[in-house]
Amino acid sequence: MDDTTHTTDEFVIKGIAAAPGIAMGPAYLYTKQVPRVERKPILPDEVEAEIERLNAANARSEKELRKVLAFAEQKLGSDSAKIFEAQIMILTDAILMGTIKKRIAAELINAEFAVTDEVNKYRQMMLASPEEYMHERARDVDDVVNRIIRNIRDQKLFSKLEGASIIVSETLAPADTVIFSRNQILGYATDLGGVTSHAALLSRSLKIPAVVGLHSATKQIKTGDFLAIDGYAGALIINPGADTLKILQARAERFLAFEQQLAGIAALPADTLDKKHIELSSNIEFAEEIVFAQLQGSEGVGLFRTEMQLIGRAEYPSEDEQAALYAGVAEAAFPHPVLFRTFDVGGDKIAPDGQHEENPFLGWRGIRVMLDRTDIFLDQLRAILRASTRHNVRVMFPMVSTVTEVQRAKALLKQAMEDLKRRGIKYDTRIRVGVMIEVPAAAVMAEQLAAEVHFLSIGTNDLVQYLMAVDRGNDAIAPLFQPFHPAVVRTLRHIVEAGHRKNVWVGVCGEMAGDPLATVFLVGIGVDELSVIPPVLPEIKKIIRSIKLKDAKRVADKVCALHTEREIRAFLSSIIKNKVPEIPFDL
Ligand code: PEP
Ligand code: MG
Repeated sequence: MDDTTHTTDEFVIKGIAAAPGIAMGPAYLYTKQVPRVERKPILPDEVEAEIERLNAANARSEKELRKVLAFAEQKLGSDSAKIFEAQIMILTDAILMGTIKKRIAAELINAEFAVTDEVNKYRQMMLASPEEYMHERARDVDDVVNRIIRNIRDQKLFSKLEGASIIVSETLAPADTVIFSRNQILGYATDLGGVTSHAALLSRSLKIPAVVGLHSATKQIKTGDFLAIDGYAGALIINPGADTLKILQARAERFLAFEQQLAGIAALPADTLDKKHIELSSNIEFAEEIVFAQLQGSEGVGLFRTEMQLIGRAEYPSEDEQAALYAGVAEAAFPHPVLFRTFDVGGDKIAPDGQHEENPFLGWRGIRVMLDRTDIFLDQLRAILRASTRHNVRVMFPMVSTVTEVQRAKALLKQAMEDLKRRGIKYDTRIRVGVMIEVPAAAVMAEQLAAEVHFLSIGTNDLVQYLMAVDRGNDAIAPLFQPFHPAVVRTLRHIVEAGHRKNVWVGVCGEMAGDPLATVFLVGIGVDELSVIPPVLPEIKKIIRSIKLKDAKRVADKVCALHTEREIRAFLSSIIKNKVPEIPFDL
């Protein structure tokens, strides 16, 4: 796929929008010195000195990282700074360092090689994972190794820049992002990395526009080149012409004005003009995100992806460990509800005991795994129940395709309750239970599923994938991943109506819930809740507050009568432009 376009000498490289905002200024090409490490023999009487060099380098690396940690804590808060604690943990891991030292002595090899080779084993395991998140963590490990090697070699750390610049680099380690932020950084543009990279998360916290995944930016840019980055659209423009600069400037002003307008909205209810309340909550993956979600005006957590705890682990966490995590999240969200989704492992997601499957998306995934691994499932259900004493915890099952699966999951929930009762531990005996509607079979059977539970939550990411037979992660067929396909919108309406016939609440927690183009339609078909990523919360609330339910219903009727996704998108765009003209949703 061609991801570059040319005009005269202006040159656009498309990437992934990682942190919003627009920046313009000179480039600073940050080429990281990736140390070349060779295996070198040492003499037996040099072993002690070699180990001493390693100890000294470790101590220096730890000191550097502690400084970064302190700086990050002050700038970002202690939760975001945790990445650096994790890096320090690698450095101070007695078993790892012990193995490295043993190898230096037994194999008579230099410290640089022993460190690189030993840590590489972990790195390879991470890179072999199908999870993009694990690849990002592998880069964090690289950062620790490079730091130790630089210190073994007694080289200086670079962190000073001349004037305000846009940093262009192959990749940015979290520590680079924080250290650079002491300088005047206008923006970040990197060849590698996805939106889940910690550098991306940090630049969002630091409010520095960033575009990642630009592939070859470092090959096409020199220090001093004039650049613009568009952190909303995910584009890097080299030598932007006067017209482009004007457009970007106007765009930046529009977004800024829009952000200011949204500033006061967090405290207001997500009510339509005719007072239909929509529960507006957030999708989160880590407990630390809840603070930001609340600042954005979230009413609770509509999807807590519990499987994220499994990243980087060889074993499932114990009941106690999970109970502590869930109780913390439930406490932070109180009095609002938290929907804990039970482990959705398999597919493209992490699974400690995952097996290779020819067709993982159609394989052993979500509730299917948990119903086979009841020991793990019961641990998790007990942990969720233990967090439910204040009655704001809900539990939901992912990847359900049959009524029997729900009945079996509920029976296990009952068993978990009995276990706790026997142990004298308190829990919410009337905990609300729901299923995610993500599989076409579940969508068709929504009414029968609704009869079994208290709520349905539609996972549009998977529902679109399975309805359209389009792998949600495959770029080559991305245009066919159509949340506004007539089959999808009609299915969504069917699910909501089916749920309401059984008097259960129906929410949407897939990405579509956070797409401003979808809001009027979703309200119009009668959804009770939208659970979205925290950054888009104010924007979605603004739309809800600008419409009447009766108008939204008419919009939904019209949408369901159209025949192509193109027509539906065009129609919904025109509605938003009329209703909320200042929403820069199409940019
Ligand atoms: C979904 O499928 O829409 C969903 C919310 O779950 P996930 O993206 O975690 O699969
Ligand atoms: Mg899903």
